[in-house]
Amino acid sequence: MDSLTDQRPVCLTDLTLSHLTDYVKGMGLPAFRAKQIFKWVHQKLVTDFSAMTDQPKSLIQTLEQTCTLAAPTIRRRQQSKDGTVKYLLQLADGNCIETVLMRYHYGNTVCVSTQVGCAMGCRFCASTQAGRVRDLTPGEIASEIYTAQKDTGERVSHIVLMGIGEPLHNFDNVMDFLEIISCPEGLNIGMRNISLSTCGLVPKIDELAQRKLQLTLSVSLHAPDNAVRSSMMPVNDAYPLEELIPACRRYQKITGRRISFEYSMVRGVNDSPAMARKLADLIRGMGAHVNLIPINPVDGSPYSATDEENVRRFRQMLEDLGVNATVRRRLGADISAACGQLRREDAKQAAQNGQA
Ligand code: SAH
Repeated sequence: MDSLTDQRPVCLTDLTLSHLTDYVKGMGLPAFRAKQIFKWVHQKLVTDFSAMTDQPKSLIQTLEQTCTLAAPTIRRRQQSKDGTVKYLLQLADGNCIETVLMRYHYGNTVCVSTQVGCAMGCRFCASTQAGRVRDLTPGEIASEIYTAQKDTGERVSHIVLMGIGEPLHNFDNVMDFLEIISCPEGLNIGMRNISLSTCGLVPKIDELAQRKLQLTLSVSLHAPDNAVRSSMMPVNDAYPLEELIPACRRYQKITGRRISFEYSMVRGVNDSPAMARKLADLIRGMGAHVNLIPINPVDGSPYSATDEENVRRFRQMLEDLGVNATVRRRLGADISAACGQLRREDAKQAAQNGQA
């Protein structure tokens, strides 16, 4: 068994600079080679060892025989009128994930997936409908950004971990990814330009706090009481609000960073004035920010979106009650609604083709 796993090629894109340094030293090479190779992979974004022109031929040959580099292929690409680009990327094992590039006035933001599918089961979310297939490796997550940057020829300055998957359910790989992407020898994207979104895995929020990263933590709240939240998000049964909110407060205290709450508005479920009051009571005084967004209806979900006028009214109520809130601009609405839908559509099409 061991010899089998030993023979599996190592994907160098997955290794942080310090892991790569250990690996290179283990090959009997000097540490500076690790820095050079890291720059080729994470700064110059090559996916071919032969492009590493400052490396000895013999080393390139060895790397080709024993290692790989993450190089997803673009299976589908959709561009919206507002410039948003949505990619369906195919990984080395054939699994597909979604990545989105959004253009804001402050720079290009890439929304990355962190898992193939998702185990969290939120009732409004397309990404979780077929469950979780596997975790993404650190290099696969990074290569989503590299693919978007190479495809558009434009620099990516911001990252949101809000695509398919629950980032804190793939904790170690996501931590390595963050180290790689913020490394000065790589794309050097600052933690303050990175947002990580979680459905609320309390022990992992505490673990993340201990890392004291300067990223923005977004918590998908979506409801201010346990009954409504549990009806939308099964994770609330494991970590109800009386555990989640104190964890958010601890996180703010330890990291010194304000968190933001995501609140997807569902008509007749979480959008009443009474809900706005409950929400304000729950989080007032935290200095937290609420992002409101009308829910994006997905196939097979019983939910429909709150109309924009009501979203505005809800926002105003929160402001009047002392809670900072904005209505999130929807980009790319014309190409393919909520995240996870492109992958689902593709899987359904493949199944239909298979039957035909
Ligand atoms: N698993 C993480 C990150 C991925 S989802 C999380 O739960 O936060 C990113 C955000 O999109 C979350 O706030 C999620 O609740 C929200 N979301 C998922 N499906 C949605 C939909 N159909 N309409 C609106 N928001 C949705």
